[in-house]
Order: sequence, then structure tokens, then C-alpha cells
Amino acid sequence: MMTFALSKGRIFDEALPLLKSAGLLPQESPESSRRLILETQRADLRLLIVRASDVPTYVQYGAADLGIAGSDVLAEQGSEGLVQPVDLGIARCRMSVAVPDGLDYQAMVQRGARIRVASKYVQIAKTHFAAKGMHVDLIKLYGSMELAPIVGLADVIVDLVSTGGTLKANGLKEVEKISDVSARLIVNQAALKTRPEKLRPLMDALAQAASRG
Ligand code: ADP
Ligand code: MG
Repeated sequence: MMTFALSKGRIFDEALPLLKSAGLLPQESPESSRRLILETQRADLRLLIVRASDVPTYVQYGAADLGIAGSDVLAEQGSEGLVQPVDLGIARCRMSVAVPDGLDYQAMVQRGARIRVASKYVQIAKTHFAAKGMHVDLIKLYGSMELAPIVGLADVIVDLVSTGGTLKANGLKEVEKISDVSARLIVNQAALKTRPEKLRPLMDALAQAASRG
């Protein structure tokens, strides 16, 4: 039996065509089912439905053999014990710094002002501002980051942006891209060593499906 960890929502929706062409479709939809373990078209593969930020953890500990995780989550949490054979090219967006519309970010940077940064991605933010030689205070949030600068919790946020619509709707603007983000296939390193004959064909099928994009 092989176990594949996946999150509901955006990643699942965009992974669906890839799962389909690799012959790994679940028997029921995770959106309508309350089950957290789903059977698939293949008797030897089951899906685990977990939070997006928990996918690497399941695969790192070997509770799942493979999974699909955003490069944002992998960058934030590290990828020890994981192989990342394929950029699936789905759930594309970017990690960016955003500030209130009226704020002159470049001037603030040049002044060497100490700024408060709110983010779900504190490690990524810390590394980014350290590389710029800036002193920042980091505030960890779990969601709705756009609110933080509006109510004075922080000066800037570090968050995922795709269209910029959410930023705009909250009076914010993107001022600096930190990195491009997309979802990656991840595989438990030890499982790949002990069961390559089971895992390789799946990895290849998903890589093929992704390249046909
Ligand atoms: P959660 O709210 O549980 O973090 P999301 O579905 O919002 O789950 O995000 C899951 C993953 O989808 C993120 O880790 C990221 O890789 C990707 N993602 C998030 N927001 C966007 C976006 N606006 N556009 C494309 N991909 C995104
Ligand atoms: Mg979200």
C-alpha cells in the first residue's frame, strides 16, 4: 500500500487533472466527503486529506510516502528527509512584501527604519529581510494577513499574491517579490530507497502529466 498526502482546496483542485491522467483519482470528492482517507482508482494507493502546511510533516515522518506541497510551505518548514523530484507547475503564485497604498517602502528601507512584519511565513520573512540587512520585528499570524497593516499591528506583510485582488481590496500594494511559488511533488527519501519499484512509476506518471500541463 502507498499513501499520498494532499490538501483540499486550491492544490487539490489543480492537482485533479494530474491525478486523473496518472490514474490516481479518489473514489469520492474530498470536498463533499468528510473522510480523511480516500480510496483511489488503484487498490494499492490511498489519499490522506490534511492541511496544506501539514503535508510535508506526514511525508517527512513516513506516514505518507508522497504528497503535494507548496514551495512556500517547503521553504518555510524545511524539507529534511524529502525528495522533490517534480515541480508540478500548479497553484502558482508569488511570495511578496506588501504595504499600505500610501507608504513609501523604498524610503523606509533607505532610512534603515526598524519595521514590524506580520506573516504566516516568518522564516521566509526573516531570511529575506536579513539578506537586505534590515532589522525587523516578526509577528506570526495564521491568516488574514491583509488586516495587520490596516489596524496598526504591523508596517508590512509577507504573503502569497496571485492577482493582487485581495491586497487591492484592502488598500495594500505589492512592493517586492521574494520568490515564485508553485506546488511540488514530494517523496519520503527512505521510502524511495526501499520501494523504488513502487514509487518511481507514480513519480514518472505525475511528472509526465505535469509536463503535458
Ligand atoms: P490554507 O489556507 O490552508 O493555507 P490555501 O488553499 O490557501 O490553504 O493554500 C494552500 C497552498 O496553495 C499554499 O501553500 C500555496 O502553495 C498555494 N496558494 C495559496 N494561495 C495561492 C494563490 N493565491 N494562488 C495560487 N496558489 C496559492
Ligand atoms: Mg488560504
